[in-house]
Amino acid sequence: MRFALVDGTKTDPQPGLRGTCPSCESAMIAKCGRVVAWHWAHKSSRHCDRWWESETDWHREWKARFPRAWREVVHVDDRTGERHFADVKTAANLVVEFQHSPIKPEERRVREAFYKEMIWIVDGTRGLDKSYFFLDSSQEPVVRKPLGYAIRWWSRSRLLHNWYESRVPVFFDFREDTLWRLGQFNPETKIAVVYPVPVELVVEDCMHGRAIRAVYTEQGEAKAISEKNGGSRSDPK
Ligand SMILES: [Zn+2]
Repeated sequence: MRFALVDGTKTDPQPGLRGTCPSCESAMIAKCGRVVAWHWAHKSSRHCDRWWESETDWHREWKARFPRAWREVVHVDDRTGERHFADVKTAANLVVEFQHSPIKPEERRVREAFYKEMIWIVDGTRGLDKSYFFLDSSQEPVVRKPLGYAIRWWSRSRLLHNWYESRVPVFFDFREDTLWRLGQFNPETKIAVVYPVPVELVVEDCMHGRAIRAVYTEQGEAKAISEKNGGSRSDPK
């Protein structure tokens, strides 16, 4: 965790500091070593949130785009009392979850039912996923309002299979300036339609509590195509 409560205040780790977990209220210790980024850990080995994913630099960089008060917010189900840390929860109560590890559809559904208003940002750079995603990147868009491209998913990875049935917006992040929102996917034909959306636009819409826009303009189109053609055409073999 990046934060613990010290005297009731959300606090960054400092050497020697002790705090409590904002969710389970058990003791936390600041881990301030040289190798791993400074963080807080529960004093007992038990972890209070089994949904919590070990943080990567990718998680940290994403969360840093949002106000501190919105990061690692405890989300509670009023009826059951179940509690989990939302990676980011905006002032408009939209939960933004950053998913690095593969997650099974059943697990994804449970989390979507828990958070309700949410979007997923999925790390697309695991294995060869990125190479496969951009394999046919010379194609023209198949729809223009909003701008969308068809891709054929040749990979044996379940990236698209695991996410296409989500009822909330799913964005793949290939660590470029553009995210790709997953539209339709047919697991038989393995053809998907994906929509480019600049990272800055997604962040801006979250910051303002708006629905996340799609890209319509010619200018956006030119940008998206040039990025599709840049750097991602290596043979995945
Ligand atoms: Zn805890």
